[in-house]
Amino acid sequence: MPLQERITHSLVKGIDAFIIEDVEQARQESEKPIEVIEGNLMAGMNVVGNLFGAGKMFLPQVVKSARVMKKAVGYLNPFIEAEKGEKQQALGKVLMATVKGDVHDIGKNIVSVVLGCNNYEIVDLGVMVAPEKIIETAKKENVDIIGLSGLITPSLDEMVYLAKEMERQDFTVPLLIGGATTSKAHTAVKIDTQYKNAVVHVNDASRAVTVVGDLLNPKTCHLYTAKLKKDYDEFRTKFLKRGKEKSYISIDEAREQKFKIDWKTTSIIKPKELGIQTLEQVSLKDLIPFIDWSPFFRSWDLHGRYPDILTDEIVGEQATVLFNDAQKILKEIISKQYLKAKAIFGLFEANSINDDDISIQKKGKEIAIFRTLRQQLKKRAGKPSLALSDFIAPRESEKQDYMGAFCTAIFGADELAEKYKNKEDDYNAIMVQAIADRFAEALAEYLHQQIRTKHWGYASEENLSNDELIKESYKGIRPAPGYPACPDHLEKETIWDLLKVEEKIGVSLTESLAMWPAAAVSGYYFANEEAKYFGVGKITDDQVKDFAKRKNITLEKARKWLHPTIADN
Ligand code: SAH
Repeated sequence: MPLQERITHSLVKGIDAFIIEDVEQARQESEKPIEVIEGNLMAGMNVVGNLFGAGKMFLPQVVKSARVMKKAVGYLNPFIEAEKGEKQQALGKVLMATVKGDVHDIGKNIVSVVLGCNNYEIVDLGVMVAPEKIIETAKKENVDIIGLSGLITPSLDEMVYLAKEMERQDFTVPLLIGGATTSKAHTAVKIDTQYKNAVVHVNDASRAVTVVGDLLNPKTCHLYTAKLKKDYDEFRTKFLKRGKEKSYISIDEAREQKFKIDWKTTSIIKPKELGIQTLEQVSLKDLIPFIDWSPFFRSWDLHGRYPDILTDEIVGEQATVLFNDAQKILKEIISKQYLKAKAIFGLFEANSINDDDISIQKKGKEIAIFRTLRQQLKKRAGKPSLALSDFIAPRESEKQDYMGAFCTAIFGADELAEKYKNKEDDYNAIMVQAIADRFAEALAEYLHQQIRTKHWGYASEENLSNDELIKESYKGIRPAPGYPACPDHLEKETIWDLLKVEEKIGVSLTESLAMWPAAAVSGYYFANEEAKYFGVGKITDDQVKDFAKRKNITLEKARKWLHPTIADN
C-alpha cells in the first residue's frame, strides 16, 4: 500500500509493528518532522475519530490506536527537538483529576487517552487530588477545560465544592463531570447552579471528544454553552418538580412498618467458626471461575452480558478481541504473580437493638455497633420500610443471632499499570486496572461461598454455578457500605475497627472513606433466608437527627456524610 494508507491502516487497526519504519520514511520525505505528525499521523487519527464517531470503531480499538500514535510521536519528538522546531499545536489543554478522597480512575484514564489522541494536551493530576491543587494547576497551566472524576458518593460533594471555588475565583473554563455515581440530575441540580459557565455531565469517552470539541470551538462555543445551560435548567426544573411529588413518612412510622421476620420459627444457624480470619494465600487462578466478566466489558464502553456479548452482532468482534487480550494479560499476571489477593472476614454473635442498630458481641460482650438506615419513602399500604437491621433477630426476641463482615482486595495493580504506562501502553495499563477490579469482586464472591458452605456453614449443601452466583441466587446477602442498602460510608470505619482491616491486610480508607488499593470490596454478611438487597432511597431530617444521636456524632457530621442520601424537600 502507499505510505499514507499504511500509516492510516496501522492507526485504525492499532498495529504498531511497522509504524516506526513508516514514520521514518515519511520523515525523510517531509521537509520538517512536525509535518509527519500534523499531516500523516493526524490524517490517520481523523479516520479513527470519524469511525469512532459513526459507531464503527469501539473504545478499546481507539485506545489501541492511541498507543500506536504515541509510539510514532515518541519517535519523532527527538527530531523535532533537534531542529528546535515548534511542537505540534494542540487543540486545547484539558486538566483531568479524580477528586480528593477518591481513588478510582479507569474512566478518567480512558477519557484522557481518547482526548489525547484527538490532539488535546492532557494534564492528568491522578487520583485523590485536593481542590487547591486543581485550582492552582488550572491557573498555572492555563488550561482550557477541567474534567473531574469520582466513583463514590462523597466525591459528589467535592465536585460541588470545586464548582463553587471556580465561580468564586472567576474561572470561565468549562467543567466536565464524570464517574459512576455522577449523573445528569446531580450535575444539573447541584453543580451547574454553582458555576455560571459551562458544566457538562459526560459519562462516556465517545461523547467526550465531541463535547470538548464543541466547547472549545470559538465559532460554536457560545451557542453551545447557552444551549447547555438552558438544557440543564429545564432538566433541573423537571427533576425538582418530580422530587417534590414524592412523599416521605417519619422515621417512627417507618419503624412501625419494619420488615417482620417470625423469630420464633425462622432458622438461625450458629457459625462453625466464630471470630476473625485472614486469607493471604488465595490463588488468583482459583478465582478465575468466579469472575463476572460483564462489568469488565462495561468499563470499556461495550455493553451486553457475557458470554453473549462475544457473539453480539454489533460489538461481538471487538468484545472477543478485548476478551482475548485480557486472557493474555491474565495468564501473565498469574504466572509472574504480579497481583496478590488478600481477604479478611469475621463472624460474630449479633442482635438488633434500637430498631435500626446491630449490636455485635463476643461471648455476650458488645464489641461494635453497626448503624443501619431505614427507608422513608411513602409506600403502598402493607409494604415494609426496610433497614438491614430487620434481618437480624432483635434482642427482645431472646434469640442469639449472627452476622459477619469482610474485606477483599487486590494488591499490585497500580505498580503493574505504571509499568505499562511507562512503556506508553495505556491500553494494557487500563486493562490491568479493570482486571484487578474483577479479581476483587471475584474474591468477594468466592469468599462469600466459602462462608456459606464452610466457615459459617449455613448452606453447606449449596452447589451454584457462576451464573447463579452472579444472579445472587444464594441464601443470604453481602451488602457493601456505600451501596443502596447501606449508603452510609461511615460504616466502613466500624468494619475497619472491628476486623483491624488495615493492620491485618493493609487496606486503608481515604478521607472520603474510599478503600485503598482501589480494587477492593467490603461489606457485611447476613444469613437469614429472608435477607435481600434493596435500596434505602432518600431519608429525611428526623432520621438524620436520630442517627447522629444514636451514633453520638454531631448533627453536622451526620449531615455531611449522609448528604447524598437526604431528600431535598
Ligand atoms: N458480580 C458483580 C457484583 C456487582 S454488585 C461484579 O462482579 O461486579 C457488587 C457488590 O455490591 C455485591 O456483591 C454486593 O456486595 C453489593 N451490593 C449489590 N447490591 C447491593 C445493595 N442493594 N445494597 C448494598 N450492597 C449491594
